[in-house]
Amino acid sequence: MDRYAVIGHPVAHSRSPWIHERFARATGQALEYGRIEASAEAFAAAVEAFRRSGGKGLNVTLPHKEAAFRLCRTTSPRADAAGAVNTLVLGEPIFGDNTDGAGLVRDVEANEGYRLRGRRVLLLGAGGAARGVIGALLAAGVARLRIANRTAERARALAERFPGTSGGGFAELAGDPFDVVVNATSAGLQDAALPLPAGLLAEGVLAYEMVYGRDTPFLAAARAAGARCRDGLGMLVEQAAESFLVWRGVRPQTRDVLAELRGA
Ligand code: NAP
Repeated sequence: MDRYAVIGHPVAHSRSPWIHERFARATGQALEYGRIEASAEAFAAAVEAFRRSGGKGLNVTLPHKEAAFRLCRTTSPRADAAGAVNTLVLGEPIFGDNTDGAGLVRDVEANEGYRLRGRRVLLLGAGGAARGVIGALLAAGVARLRIANRTAERARALAERFPGTSGGGFAELAGDPFDVVVNATSAGLQDAALPLPAGLLAEGVLAYEMVYGRDTPFLAAARAAGARCRDGLGMLVEQAAESFLVWRGVRPQTRDVLAELRGA
């Protein structure tokens, strides 16, 4: 049976095995999907060991997405744009792709029913998650993409890599209106609030929190301001579906899987 896994550190609580087993069942594909716990030092050797043992593909999660990119001999244009890989196809040579951006855009457009074309988008954060979604947001036809980060210099450096975007700190956002605010920081994992200017999160704004499974200060602030709120669970399921498509050539339905996860 074809074998896949998610590799990360920590990886014990990953929902990916459950999601991919559902996809396999629903599409009639015979596969096994497990977890590989690997530190940064052990990452490359763990990938190679899995490949040599017949493993067909890996999902890569924190903190290995950039290391995975460096490991690949061939990569997709969207992985190149992100400089990070979340999906490995373990052939000869190893191929790397990045499905995070496609997952976000699909969750917003297909699941939330919100069209991104022509929207003014603010992306909070300048780490791997932010980098992974910029290309897809631009391809979706957003009118404007501003990147803001706690370390403002990182946002400016990131914006320089993507023509048509601009970057800076949180304080510079005062008075600037946006239709969509995507939180790609990990602040929510530490229950930390972001110092966003008053009025940024308002009625009519779509506030998207990439973190899932908890009510973060960002979501609480957005809800209090009357914004439309969405967490990152749909992105998780949609990036998984896109990886499944890369590996198996078939795109699984996501609606029931997402509904079941939300109910759990
Ligand atoms: P990362 O590379 O470590 O980057 C973390 C980012 O968060 C940086 O921009 C950092 O700012 C910022 N940050 C951290 N703590 C902060 C705080 N207290 N206040 C303000 N900013 C803070 O992490 P990542 O890979 O980009 O992941 C970011 C988040 O996205 C994670 O929580 C991850 O779970 C989530 N994610 C979700 C999905 C999904 O499918 N739903 C997919 C990918 C990622 P500095 O540059 O100033 O340090």
